[in-house]
Amino acid sequence: MKKQIERIISKPARPGMVGDGFRVFNYIPGGVTQQRISPFLMLDFNPSYDFGPSARVKGVDVHPHKGFETVTIAYKGAVEHHDSSGKHGIIYPGDVQWMTAGAGILHKEYHEKAFSKTGGPFEMVQLWVNLPKKDKSVAPHYQALTADGMGKAVLPDNAGVVNVIAGSFNGVAGPAETYSPVNLFDIKLNNGGQVTTRLAANHNTALLVINGKVTVNDQSAPEHSFVLFGNAGEEISINADGDAVVLLMSGEPINEPIVSYGPFVMNTEEEIHEAIQDFQAGKFGVLV
Ligand code: MN
Repeated sequence: MKKQIERIISKPARPGMVGDGFRVFNYIPGGVTQQRISPFLMLDFNPSYDFGPSARVKGVDVHPHKGFETVTIAYKGAVEHHDSSGKHGIIYPGDVQWMTAGAGILHKEYHEKAFSKTGGPFEMVQLWVNLPKKDKSVAPHYQALTADGMGKAVLPDNAGVVNVIAGSFNGVAGPAETYSPVNLFDIKLNNGGQVTTRLAANHNTALLVINGKVTVNDQSAPEHSFVLFGNAGEEISINADGDAVVLLMSGEPINEPIVSYGPFVMNTEEEIHEAIQDFQAGKFGVLV
């Protein structure tokens, strides 16, 4: 049985700036509540945009996270990051950084230095994935998932390719280790290409049309729209009308209370107060 489409959410009217380097449209929780789309907490999309050449790197300076994971998906341009555990890296097109903030971390995220100097198209997604209560205090760590390490499903009839970041697409597994069942697929379709897959009915499921336009289960989804599926049926069929890039996500709902306060996502108000106190007391480490 085909999954029903609950709603097609249009691109928000205006972008917001995260620091001065991320020009993002917010789909979660702007278009759908965190409870409805659990375990996903936030989805910001920076559609292709040229910030121009800059001698000073643009981005977002040192800030904390606690209680969940930030997943940064690079389509164009390059993002550099540093964190309070001493880690540093660069996320290039096709790469994904899956950071588990867990007990608490400080980091900064900005345009990679060489890319900053030249400018050029910059296209990114940041997705936040909640952690189950039992895992909210794991030591912070991250997975630097590179383009060549993704699960790869080449579609028949030259339809395109599916890069499996997390979970499993038609038997092809992705490299990300997750704390609850999550599927995350970067789908690239050629003009007229078609792909069909099945995702559990009980998973909360959505897709974002990154580039191009597609038909999803017989409904038209324009560029930059967000398709929210209902929790009945399993089959999803996507047809590309021109070349298209789609980010498909699904996850088993974490049926626990969500209390969000900016970069902290916990289960109770008390835990949020503790998180703020811990951050102010310097327990997330040091990063300048
Ligand atoms: Mn961050």
